[in-house]
Amino acid sequence: MQHVNLVILPSMGYSGKHTNISKPTATWWLNKLGYYSKEVKKGIYIDGHEHPDVTQARKCYISRIAELHPFMPIVNNETLEVSYLVLPPGKRIIIAIYHDEMSVATNEQRHCVWLAEEQQILRKKGNGRSIHVSDFILETSRRLFLTKEQITEMHCTLPHEKQLTVTDAHVIIHPGKNGDPWWDNAQLMKQIECAIPIFEFLHPGAVGMWIFDCSSAHEAFSEDALNVKNMNINPGDKQQCPQPSKIPLNNLPPIPGERDTQGTIQLMVYGSDHENPDLRGKAKGIKAVLQERSSVWRKLVQAVGGNEKKVVGLCKICKASQIEKDRLLRIASQDQAEGDIIGDDGSFNPSDSGSDTCCMTRALSQQQDFLDEKPLIERYIEEKGHICLFLPKFHCELDPIEMYWGWTRHQYRTVSDQKFSTAKAIIPQILNFVDVKLIQKFFRKTWRYIDAYEKGLDAHQAAFAVKVYKSHR
Ligand SMILES: [Zn+2]
Repeated sequence: MQHVNLVILPSMGYSGKHTNISKPTATWWLNKLGYYSKEVKKGIYIDGHEHPDVTQARKCYISRIAELHPFMPIVNNETLEVSYLVLPPGKRIIIAIYHDEMSVATNEQRHCVWLAEEQQILRKKGNGRSIHVSDFILETSRRLFLTKEQITEMHCTLPHEKQLTVTDAHVIIHPGKNGDPWWDNAQLMKQIECAIPIFEFLHPGAVGMWIFDCSSAHEAFSEDALNVKNMNINPGDKQQCPQPSKIPLNNLPPIPGERDTQGTIQLMVYGSDHENPDLRGKAKGIKAVLQERSSVWRKLVQAVGGNEKKVVGLCKICKASQIEKDRLLRIASQDQAEGDIIGDDGSFNPSDSGSDTCCMTRALSQQQDFLDEKPLIERYIEEKGHICLFLPKFHCELDPIEMYWGWTRHQYRTVSDQKFSTAKAIIPQILNFVDVKLIQKFFRKTWRYIDAYEKGLDAHQAAFAVKVYKSHR
């Protein structure tokens, strides 16, 4: 409105009170031009999350949940009473635990931005002091923590060395200038290490289905992961040394005269007894790792007409894609710095060359053991005998903890005096105040969405179905 009244109309020779447009007119036109207003907070976004890669991720996620659903406790839709199933021997109860993070700026205010279709608001860390909460919720017992009675019970039943020192899984920090460091993957790992024993005490024998949102931090790989991005073509120099790996059995079988290495354990570093003293203890690099996978190396050599020297380390296509990817990431981060808005989700497949033999880097990245590599938190949770899932991007409606955050923010706004000291004291109280029935209602809503998506509805239809279902009730 201000732009039209102060810039556009005067430039056309119109000025004065009677030629101004009003706020409703500006709003009406923005809507007509395809913009929509969005409150700057996390919520349920529809636009932009029906991209093919996102819907594919949703399909995978929904079918995995559907597969595990029969082993989960049943919550009565009317009474919200939890009942546990009697499972066949050898099967274990599965309980969903949702994780998420929330940041409340002390001087949090509602404000809106206008977005074109397909634009999304990205989460930002915020300025100044804020309260950052990282927590888990369960349908069976709201937040992941032990009550006073349960702590007493834990002290009585667990041997001294197994007693939990942390009995509440949430972590609340106060990042910002002169405050705590920003939340990162290392802090999340520590939190998970404490959260799993709490869950195991609350639900002995059950398998936790730990669900995280799809962020780069949550999907970070460990330093010793099988990841070509951390490796050089040649041995030594500065590169990460991946853990040993089993050479995949689905590689081409060896031909006569070729060493059969399939299924053997391959070290990614040269031994201290290597014949070449210069290589001892050094990371092998991509080329040597491939050469030890004889049939894979043979395929690469054959692809360039049998001349070993012609095998390329990183081909133009894969390299260009990397540069292109870097460029897109740069643009995205610039947009983010300027206004936290980017069109689309910025996702880009770096290696869309379509061939496994274009270069060494691509060939190794397509080896089954490299493809199977899992993010650090997934690896850790699976090692502990539990399940780890990542939500598809942009699907806040599949995350009941988002609704819990929404509720928390709302409660905070009604009592906030915008002072940091108040926020610091009050937010933990609000978080603790939530009733298990409310958490179960958030879960019910998520289950309705899962059900709608499982029936093949798209996001718009699912949102409609969930709304109709609710009003019908
Ligand atoms: Zn390539």
